[in-house]
Amino acid sequence: LSPKAMVDDACVSYATLDKLNARVKPAVDDLTQTTDFFSHYRLNLFHKSCPFWDDQNGLCGNIGCAVETLDNEDDIPDVWKVKELSKLEGPLAKHPGRAPKEEHRPLHGELGESVGESCVYDHDDECDERDYCVPEDESAFSKGDYVSLVRNPERFTGYSGVGAHMVWDAIYRENCFQRSSFPHSADVGISSWPQGPAAMDFKQVMEAAGRQAQLDRERLQKPETPFVASTGLEADDECLEKRVFYRVVSGMHASISTHLCWDYLNKTTGLWGPNLDCYMERLHGHADRISNLYFNYALVTRAVAKLGPYLQKSAYTFCTDDAHEDASTRSKVLKVTQRAALVPNIFDESQMFVNGEGPSLKEDFRNRFRNISRLMDCVGCDKCRLWGKLQTNGYGTALKILFEFDNGKDVPVLKRTELVALFNTYGRLTQSLMAIGQFQKMAAEAEDKK
Ligand code: FAD
Repeated sequence: LSPKAMVDDACVSYATLDKLNARVKPAVDDLTQTTDFFSHYRLNLFHKSCPFWDDQNGLCGNIGCAVETLDNEDDIPDVWKVKELSKLEGPLAKHPGRAPKEEHRPLHGELGESVGESCVYDHDDECDERDYCVPEDESAFSKGDYVSLVRNPERFTGYSGVGAHMVWDAIYRENCFQRSSFPHSADVGISSWPQGPAAMDFKQVMEAAGRQAQLDRERLQKPETPFVASTGLEADDECLEKRVFYRVVSGMHASISTHLCWDYLNKTTGLWGPNLDCYMERLHGHADRISNLYFNYALVTRAVAKLGPYLQKSAYTFCTDDAHEDASTRSKVLKVTQRAALVPNIFDESQMFVNGEGPSLKEDFRNRFRNISRLMDCVGCDKCRLWGKLQTNGYGTALKILFEFDNGKDVPVLKRTELVALFNTYGRLTQSLMAIGQFQKMAAEAEDKK
């Protein structure tokens, strides 16, 4: 990347973001890896079915169809199989409901039946119309599961093939703001989506939708000029909101691809590590994807920085039973927000939803993002679903902070799951920027050797 090149739609260069990341990443790592509050996530991982199509018959990305797509699956050891790689590790704790608090304090990393809930409990089952995501536990308060994020890192799982592609296609299809010829969840309502036997016909619709999504992607991408200097958000008012929506999704996709390439299983040696070929194939030749990843970094950085003063002011407690741990978590989270604020004006959200058709798009934008969060229940690999849910919630929270925090008095309260998702999503982005930088060096070295 040319150091001075600017990230489209943001007000910052790639080099500035890389420099900022060197300051932010250690603070985010410290927060997400060492505090109980930010290293555990509560979500409804197993109790919701895919609301958009029947995922029991192999059309969707269940583990079965993902296994079929791996080459020579029979030849590889059981522990390297998709089923194993996708499996969650560590004890899962069921949500205790509104039971009285226990005295026991969890050790870091411990989370089992007897765990104290003081650090991981809050009343976050209420919906807010300003949410950009479907709250994880909106319908089934008692069905949330706690998962250790540290013990279940996002990495290569082998989840692939038609199931994964259907989810990505459906996600990109949410970008299609105008009414179209295929059923759209926002147009027809989820209950109208075909279920059961009708899903076979639906597959054809989905394939058509996939083709449409590809066309939309091509239309919205700027493949020839991905790194041109930006004049800021005012550059193209007409479709700014739609473009931002697309970039968030594509940037998330690029970030997920980066993580799985960075933490890849070498099936010959059985070792985990960066896979340059994976990077070259999915990211290197796709400047637009890397641009979208940096765009997301700028957007989430802005949201985290904007949250700082609210967290500072609020009496939010991170661990009500232990004042020392509470203070330590609080100081770590504030450190992240302060570092995120080191580059002012990184992204100017005030330009959005104001001009042209912008104001009328806001609700649509929100609804479509909610649909993306619902689509995560169609992801057929436990670990991918965990991180997919967390990251959509993280981006949803960032959007909520950017677009709903500006009306003075009535600032929405953030739920625990939103805070955890936001800072872990930020952590994923900091990791992606670091990994992309390393991959670029590796690619240059490989080129020199030729
Ligand atoms: P895919 O990544 O599936 O992409 C499909 C198509 O989308 C591509 O052919 C291309 O046309 C287009 N595309 C790709 N990237 C972008 C982009 N950034 N912007 C715009 N268009 C793009 N696998 C894991 O190993 N670990 C995980 O943790 C994991 N998490 C996942 C989470 C979710 C929500 C989903 C849907 C899938 C996840 N997967 C994960 C699977 C992974 O993302 C890929 O789908 C899989 O590796 C197959 O990759 P692929 O090369 O076929 O292309």
